[in-house]
Amino acid sequence: MTGTLTIVGLGPGADDLITPEVQSALAEATDVVGYIPYVARVADRPGLTKHASDNRVELDRAQHALGMAADGRRVVVVSSGDPGVFAMASAVFEALEAGPAEWRGLDIRVLPGITAMLAAAARAGAPLGHDFCAINLSDNLKPWSLIEKRLKLAVEADFAMAFYNPRSKARPQGFEKTLALLQKTCADTRPVIFARAVSTRDEQVNVVALPECTAEMADMRTVVIVGSSQTRVIHRTGAPIVYTPRSAP
Ligand code: SAH
Repeated sequence: MTGTLTIVGLGPGADDLITPEVQSALAEATDVVGYIPYVARVADRPGLTKHASDNRVELDRAQHALGMAADGRRVVVVSSGDPGVFAMASAVFEALEAGPAEWRGLDIRVLPGITAMLAAAARAGAPLGHDFCAINLSDNLKPWSLIEKRLKLAVEADFAMAFYNPRSKARPQGFEKTLALLQKTCADTRPVIFARAVSTRDEQVNVVALPECTAEMADMRTVVIVGSSQTRVIHRTGAPIVYTPRSAP
């Protein structure tokens, strides 16, 4: 089989934040597969066919990509950020594991990208400088009770936390419940970073003390970073710096 399947991350938005390795894979692709807005970020050129599909069809998309690679094409599956963080790489491997044995002979590679959490952290300073966790707040693929359990344990462990998919129109309640839980269990004024559309022209980064946070401060283009009890704010002219010291008391 001469086809290839490369699963790449396009980073948070800016072209400068796409790695040279990913750019090379895109330059050699015959087919690009992914969610509509991510496929739109790949420039048209002769010899490249784009296959854009809607959200929530990740498994169909993964099967389609594997099928084309099995037919000998050089297929690139695109995700935003990093493809292994709440994105297409796992969907491809779910399809691979459940699919025909011949797919296991394919040349498959995952190329990393800059995930939203890291792009946002860099804007704010270094909020993830000590131990942290990342939680997808969408309950599309897991029960809310599990999210709640993980939130409680993350607070208990005193991790800084990054929340992906904090709030959608279809799920307005989840982030409200998350904030209520944090405001009840963390009796302090730790900083929360609302980083929206980082590295795009719509970028907006706000630092808000936990007790003042409200659910409307986040939407689906926002990644939210909640400090640990040790996270500090340096006030200065211009935007404040948020950082978590390297050591714990
Ligand atoms: N694979 C992606 C995450 C996909 S989940 C990555 O590694 O970044 C989609 C969620 O990612 C969004 O709801 C939002 O929480 C976050 N996100 C993606 N791009 C972002 C950006 N440019 N700025 C802020 N958050 C972003």
